Amino acid sequence: MKLASGTTAITNGTLVDGNGGPPVRDAALVIRDGRISFAGPMREAPPVEPEATRIDARGGTIMPGLVEAHFHPTYFNVAALEDLDIKYPVEYVTLLAAANAKLALECGYTAARSGGSLFNIDVWLKKAIEGDLCPGPRLAASGREICGVGGLMDWNPDFRKIGMDGLVLLVNGPDEARSAVRKLVKDGVEWVKTYPTGDAAAPDTNDHHTLCMTFEEMHAVVSTAHNHKLKVTGHCRATEGIKNALRAGYDAIEHGTFIDDEGLELLLKRDVPCVPALYFELASVERGPEFRLPPRVIDGHKETLEGGAESARKILKAGGRLGMGGDFGFGWNPHGDYARELSFFVKYVGFSPLEVITCATRTGAQIMGRGAEFGTLEPGKLGDVLVVDGDVLADISVLEDRTRFIAVMQGGVVKAGQLK
Ligand SMILES: [Zn+2]
Repeated sequence: MKLASGTTAITNGTLVDGNGGPPVRDAALVIRDGRISFAGPMREAPPVEPEATRIDARGGTIMPGLVEAHFHPTYFNVAALEDLDIKYPVEYVTLLAAANAKLALECGYTAARSGGSLFNIDVWLKKAIEGDLCPGPRLAASGREICGVGGLMDWNPDFRKIGMDGLVLLVNGPDEARSAVRKLVKDGVEWVKTYPTGDAAAPDTNDHHTLCMTFEEMHAVVSTAHNHKLKVTGHCRATEGIKNALRAGYDAIEHGTFIDDEGLELLLKRDVPCVPALYFELASVERGPEFRLPPRVIDGHKETLEGGAESARKILKAGGRLGMGGDFGFGWNPHGDYARELSFFVKYVGFSPLEVITCATRTGAQIMGRGAEFGTLEPGKLGDVLVVDGDVLADISVLEDRTRFIAVMQGGVVKAGQLK
């Protein structure tokens, strides 16, 4: 991805640098050749050359670009989970994924970690974005997701002869788990997404269903992935499943819905980040009937919503790291609504806007393994910046309205917003 050349000075705004410290009123941010050279009070800013580009933040907010930590560019706003594996061919899903990536960037998300891909699209989407062929967040790519036979993602009975080729790699036992990871190694993914536990969305393998994968399978995934320097994460809702994943050496936990004290201790011991992805649950409860989700599925989502909010509070309070990502890509939780996750954490979970923004910027970049490159506004880091016409600390829901974005920048280049 090309960096800007020359200097850009952004002034007349409040700096929220992503580190969680107090905001700096009347601040300036200077970007030279795509990297931040100054971030701080206007009165301390170095002089910039007359030909520098100037951006007026209009008394609004200057903050890091957002990081969507559980992104599915290939999930195409399906009306039912089952549509994912049968509705469209790979060619069309690829185009939809490119459109979703563009939308995410327009929504202020300058980076994203995939939480699982149809086919091997994320790897190639990432190449296209990095090569400036199409706009999108800097991407950490996942591949097909790994699930045990008969687990959460294996819903087609055998007589239908649907192999789930594009969606998941189904495994039986540690040997098959190892070979699935090796296939993903060849595909070029960075993250291996697995399904250790069940979900409210599938009553047969509900929220408390611990074993969509055995501990031995999870351990085989982790050891093979780590041998090849890949990271492993998993859909972990049930209490024992969360602990199995942590004991198996997982690098991140998705959801962490029903974590208990022992699980929390395991999480904190290795400082493993968790991405709750909770707004999805509220959207499922509120809009589920419109999409004919069965009542017991909606009840399951209610339980997940409460359990997940409680776990998120526990993790943050104990000093754990949370990423903000919302599992968008379903009819009731479509792409473009990404920042609703942030408002949700302020309004329903009780986090402060500053806490949420730190989770959605610095922690997101750390989860991607790129915390040294972006995620905060500090000298030396990439100019991945969001300039908002509004005070996001007073009202975080301003981030849901992309018409309020003055500029969305990657490497100092304005990619979206009013100035594009
Ligand atoms: Zn997901």
